Amino acid sequence: MTERIWLSLAHMGGQEQRFIQEAFDTNWVVPLGPNVNGFENDLEKFLDEDKHVVALSAGTAAIHLGLIQLGVGPGDEVICQSFTFAASANPIKYLGATPVFVDSEPDTWNMCPGHLHDAIEDRIAKTGKKPKAIIPVHLYGMPAKMDEVMAIAGQYGIPVLEDAAEALGSEFKGRKCGTFGEFACLSFNGNKMITTSGGGALVCSTEEEAKRTMFYATQARDKAPHYQHSHIGYNYRMSNICAGIGRGQMMVLEDHIARRREINQLYRKLLKEVPGISFQTNPSAQFASNYWLTCIIVEPDIAGFTREDIRLTMESENIETRPLWKPMHLQPVFDNCAFYGDSTSERLFNDGLCLPSGPTLTNEDIKRVAEVIINLK
Ligand SMILES: *Cc1c(COP(=O)(O)O)cnc(C)c1O
Repeated sequence: MTERIWLSLAHMGGQEQRFIQEAFDTNWVVPLGPNVNGFENDLEKFLDEDKHVVALSAGTAAIHLGLIQLGVGPGDEVICQSFTFAASANPIKYLGATPVFVDSEPDTWNMCPGHLHDAIEDRIAKTGKKPKAIIPVHLYGMPAKMDEVMAIAGQYGIPVLEDAAEALGSEFKGRKCGTFGEFACLSFNGNKMITTSGGGALVCSTEEEAKRTMFYATQARDKAPHYQHSHIGYNYRMSNICAGIGRGQMMVLEDHIARRREINQLYRKLLKEVPGISFQTNPSAQFASNYWLTCIIVEPDIAGFTREDIRLTMESENIETRPLWKPMHLQPVFDNCAFYGDSTSERLFNDGLCLPSGPTLTNEDIKRVAEVIINLK
């Protein structure tokens, strides 16, 4: 059996163990410590927009702490892109609030500004109050139409929390994803652009927000010699060991971005002649996806096979692929949530597939994947 090709494996650059060794040598094998500060500084420099980054235990924790600071609570509504991973929406429920799902547009596959506008108007009409926050997602690394989303949010005075978990290094109009909203979440889970073996960060607009994030992330201790609490806190801070991995990963981030983009180009070249296959594509030069995962859409009528045909054949060839995210408005757990849209994300889910895209894949691996599709005809 040939070696399995995985969807998105982590790749260590080599310097990670040096930072971990330093932590051991200085006995900083505890939460917090120099690697945490170092990693946060590296991220702030990379994002290049005078933001304040707080390293946390997960991207999901980042969304949770962002929503808390936007004042989300029981009885509130939060608008969330429907076409995403459940982690974008779950923290809304942690807070006793209700998600309102908005469909994608076909250019970027991300939040449709038109449906967003309709959703806000209709929620105000139906509930008498504005949604508390808007969560657009840069899915698979593709930047959402942030100028339009920010304009609508601004028009209604609703803050934006960007889910940039998949989009580290992506840019919209030359500006990094994760720097548009009041807050943004990043993820360093095992299969993301970089990993800390599990972790995330909240990108904050002010130092005060960053301090409040750290306060909530470390059990919300009041200033007192004893343990005193006037708020409910969380244990969400990143450890000094994980941050050491993150510092090492920052040294190879640019290489990872370049390689994932190269892999995307290679797939396009190899599959150019296959009818009925199209790609998630930067709609114009304003968009610069990191191409975290290369995603294709299969039109069965033209291709003569379905995305499930591809997936099952890949599996028999020991290659991991994955259907696109199932939209939240179609998930049993969010059954009774409001949805504004058409069938855009549903169609993407039905016909879309993520191809192996990790930075450790060789050109030969990519050719092996493409051959499976080419030979299906
Ligand atoms: C991975 C991911 C998250 C959650 O990040 P974790 O670090 O796994 O908690 C949130 N949103 C999206 C779109 C993601 O892909």
